[in-house]
Amino acid sequence: MEITAIDAPGHEHVVEFNDTATGLFGYVAIHSTQLGPAAGGVRMRPYAHSAEALDDALRLSRGMTFKNAAADLPLGGGKAVIVGDPSADKTPALLQAFGRVVQSLDGLYWTAEDMGMTPADMAQIGAKADFVAGLADGAFASGDPSPITARGIYNAIRITAKHRFESDDLSGRVVSVQGLGHVGEHLCSLLHQDGAQLVVTDIDPQQAATVAEKFGARRVAPDAIYAVEADIFAPCAIGGILNETTIPSLKVAAVAGGANNQLATDADAQRLHERGILYAPDFVANGGGIVNVATEILQISDRQAWVGQRLEALERTMDRILTRAGHETVSPHAVAEQIVQDVLRAQAA
Ligand code: NAD
Repeated sequence: MEITAIDAPGHEHVVEFNDTATGLFGYVAIHSTQLGPAAGGVRMRPYAHSAEALDDALRLSRGMTFKNAAADLPLGGGKAVIVGDPSADKTPALLQAFGRVVQSLDGLYWTAEDMGMTPADMAQIGAKADFVAGLADGAFASGDPSPITARGIYNAIRITAKHRFESDDLSGRVVSVQGLGHVGEHLCSLLHQDGAQLVVTDIDPQQAATVAEKFGARRVAPDAIYAVEADIFAPCAIGGILNETTIPSLKVAAVAGGANNQLATDADAQRLHERGILYAPDFVANGGGIVNVATEILQISDRQAWVGQRLEALERTMDRILTRAGHETVSPHAVAEQIVQDVLRAQAA
């Protein structure tokens, strides 16, 4: 196994790992440990090339610094990416090799579940590393974070509806959902319970069909989701999908979803703002997942109450962001970044 430190401006520590024996290749990016050990999930995707994987790790780890600070957690920002197709390339040996990478960082980085990973995979990684959360078993095991992530996104959608439509009642509201995996499916369930009408898509046709049938949703092709007429669009798949191509085609009043790094660039926040589309910053909307994971890292005994309080705090933060953005001519994303920068500056002082 080769673990090589690489230089990445703006990041504290980044390593590339390459294990020819198991086919493991990828990156751990530690953006900041200012507030505590860096925490963020590991994602496995068939990236086209290593530069794309590195870029994802860098962007996602910075996002984790912001997400953890916004959720008021004593954790910094980090993220790992593994290059490969989770359905074909993921083996116990590869996962355990990744565990050795995590262990080599000696607690500087805590890993957990992200796209392409399951709690069972976390157990394989945990066989070789102490700094693994999202485990199914163990004293402080927090399991699959996605139901709590979805709960936080659902709260964010209601707050967004309150600001956009002057009512947080979702009954009869049309919500389009992109990505029906761990998070998207739980979110659909919560929205369906509230009487929202769902329009859904997934690149996995079987999953799309299953979810559509379960919740009486209208199903559209993956590329068609951007032009769907809806009240709220909830991206719950990959990042970068709010960009100069997709934003002009959106026919929604608001965007509030769980995917990380939904904006391709900061300019896209302004683009949405100028189109009058209210955007709920993703790193606040999807903070429930890391809150759940944090109970394991921080060894919280009264887990349910602690998670409940943090979800309420996230809701208040979202409310504050959207209120401030409503009063100022800046986008909610810019307001959210400002709030986090203030937290980091105050902590450094
Ligand atoms: P997942 O892998 O379980 O599900 C992702 C789903 O999106 C899959 O069904 C996949 O087929 C689909 N998908 C991928 N590309 C797509 C596309 N272009 N169009 C439509 N569908 C597409 O992942 P997840 O855990 O549900 O996470 C979803 C998003 O939420 C990711 O961005 C992740 O980083 C973010 N997130 C997840 C958690 C969590 O608790 N799992 C926490 C915070 C943020």
